[in-house]
Amino acid sequence: MYNAYIKYLKMKIDYHTHNHFSVDSSQSTIDLIEHAIKMGIDEICITNHIETFPQDGGTGIFTYEEAFERFTQVKKEIDDIQKDFPNIKIKFGAELEYIEEWMPEMKRLVDDIDFDFLIGSVHVVDEVVISNTELSQELYKKVDEEHTYSRYFEQMFKMVEWGNFSVVGHFDVCKKGGTDIYGPFNPEKHKKQIIPILELMKQKGIGIELNTSGLRSNCKEIYPHTDILKWCKEIGIEHYTTGSDGHETKDIGWNIDKAMEILKEIGIKTISTYEKRIPTKFEI
Ligand SMILES: [Zn+2]
Ligand SMILES: [Zn+2]
Repeated sequence: MYNAYIKYLKMKIDYHTHNHFSVDSSQSTIDLIEHAIKMGIDEICITNHIETFPQDGGTGIFTYEEAFERFTQVKKEIDDIQKDFPNIKIKFGAELEYIEEWMPEMKRLVDDIDFDFLIGSVHVVDEVVISNTELSQELYKKVDEEHTYSRYFEQMFKMVEWGNFSVVGHFDVCKKGGTDIYGPFNPEKHKKQIIPILELMKQKGIGIELNTSGLRSNCKEIYPHTDILKWCKEIGIEHYTTGSDGHETKDIGWNIDKAMEILKEIGIKTISTYEKRIPTKFEI
């Protein structure tokens, strides 16, 4: 199933970006691509949210029909723009949300659309969008770390069991709003929950992304914590991607070099690109 061929070319990728087809971004795709080239990116993947969000900031809404229609337009726009930018490869992806009752329709969507790459993310705990600092902190002030972080990792385990995606996104994004309230994130405290998730990822061939947006948030740390990356290496996770999670042009390609340095320091020797959901490894 997997193409394990390692290419010895240098490859710098930003595999987590949003454009104007995500409700939380108004970024023009051409600006995004031009900035990525300036940042030395060889390959970019546009990974819009699969769901939409109401303007009042509530939790997301997902329907097969709306998503099918919108992602058909995303793909068409990529195909049009790619012709004008031969020096960068533009891949077609999405960032999925795990909400149990959505998953049968989500499976149908990812089977029907020819995505290159899919990120699986958990953004919602106890019906609160915890990837939003202000919203998450309202919850975190009411309940302790043990409750919220374990609810978060429980959801993630279920998402990996479902498994129809390429990499887990921003693995410990719970620390984004949590660091101010609970103090620095310590993966050791949650190791009992994290290890089975990583083992299941390994078993299913699911990779993990290094997401630099954590460095722009209050926790000032990349997602995931380096201890989690060390466990990934020990367990034998095969595929790693780097992504800025940029919703604005200026953030595209941001700190990707730093993410690759972190991988190298840990002894992880490759990153992966994806085409029609099949990974290829490149030496870093
Ligand atoms: Zn996300
Ligand atoms: Zn994102």
